[in-house]
Amino acid sequence: MVFRADAFRNHESVSFFHDEESRLEAIVALHSTALGPAAGGCRMWPYASEEVALEDVLRLSRGMSFKNAMAGLPFGGGKSVIVGDSQRDKTESLLRAFGRCIEGFGGRYVTAEDVGIGEADIEILAQETRYVSGRRQRGASAGGNPAPKTAFGVFLGMRAAVELKLGRSSFEGMKVAVQGVGQVGYHLCKLLRSAGASLVVADVNTASAERAAAEFDARIVAPDEVLFEAVDIVAPCALGAVLSRDNVARLKAALVIGAANNQLATDDVGAELMQRGILYAPDYVVNAGGIMSAALEYQGGHADKDVWSRVNGIYETTRRVLLPALREERAANEVADEIALSRITAARRRNDTKLRRAS
Ligand code: NAD
Repeated sequence: MVFRADAFRNHESVSFFHDEESRLEAIVALHSTALGPAAGGCRMWPYASEEVALEDVLRLSRGMSFKNAMAGLPFGGGKSVIVGDSQRDKTESLLRAFGRCIEGFGGRYVTAEDVGIGEADIEILAQETRYVSGRRQRGASAGGNPAPKTAFGVFLGMRAAVELKLGRSSFEGMKVAVQGVGQVGYHLCKLLRSAGASLVVADVNTASAERAAAEFDARIVAPDEVLFEAVDIVAPCALGAVLSRDNVARLKAALVIGAANNQLATDDVGAELMQRGILYAPDYVVNAGGIMSAALEYQGGHADKDVWSRVNGIYETTRRVLLPALREERAANEVADEIALSRITAARRRNDTKLRRAS
């Protein structure tokens, strides 16, 4: 089942954990440790089946390898999922059991927050393992809530794309539709509104949508319609796999740039977007602000301002991907994957050479 899974694609290892007492069921996928310890958060979600959980963790961990490589971080890619409802099933004993699983990797995997796992949970994991990041911020050191940094990176990616595709240097008068106004979406709306954009928002959580509407003078639309609004940019900031071959024809925007991981249901949707003249800034290129924060926090000795200066680099990284994509009429996700994969492959070769020399 695992080897044949579509998403398996070259994973170094996949580990399944079960702790009877706490009812923990978790999967940890390490896609690559070529560039360094596999880093990527832990998601807790009431997956409909083991297969769905496995598919999610595999897709997410591979994405983390690419994201970390593209961001120039000395980390590989991994991810973990806990099967369960974070509102109902998350207990201290379950988190502690999971923390012991992470400790067992001896530092080959470093975890952090993701959907369903927050800062308070990370503090519990930290009682069982050293290999966690995304802990409460201490003073002016790197760390703390990554969402504002992720949002700023997405905003910079949008700026680069707007300049390249629309030839405009400002968001003044532009229309942006944001799907999901949670932690990242909310901060993104704030940045866009301050820059002069008008907003359309949607969230399955009515209170979140209403808050964004009130604070940013945004129009609320239905969550399943927001991507197809007549706007300049759509920003998926909720869940993954929202763009598929079945729905790209309905997009009216010129640009797709958002924070959600794995926005394309399948890689070939990138080519479909390009053929339709829609510029897609690959999710992992623009949403790396959060992992930059977690990575510098984990390394230690970095200040929060170091994280912000790294996040600033997302503007240039986005250009490095979008420029050849536009020039050569190639799907931007393919260009990005090629750059990331070449860095991972080069690191793997260097490691192999070192091992051969040492033996
Ligand atoms: P969040 O849970 O705070 O916000 C997500 C929001 O989307 C919630 O308000 C939720 O109600 C809403 N939502 C869920 N399904 C929806 C739907 N079908 N339509 C509209 N709204 C829907 O999460 P977040 O931290 O803001 O992250 C958003 C996305 O960005 C996630 O995919 C996450 O994996 C990704 N991401 C987040 C970070 C970070 O720093 N938090 C970093 C990189 C990537």
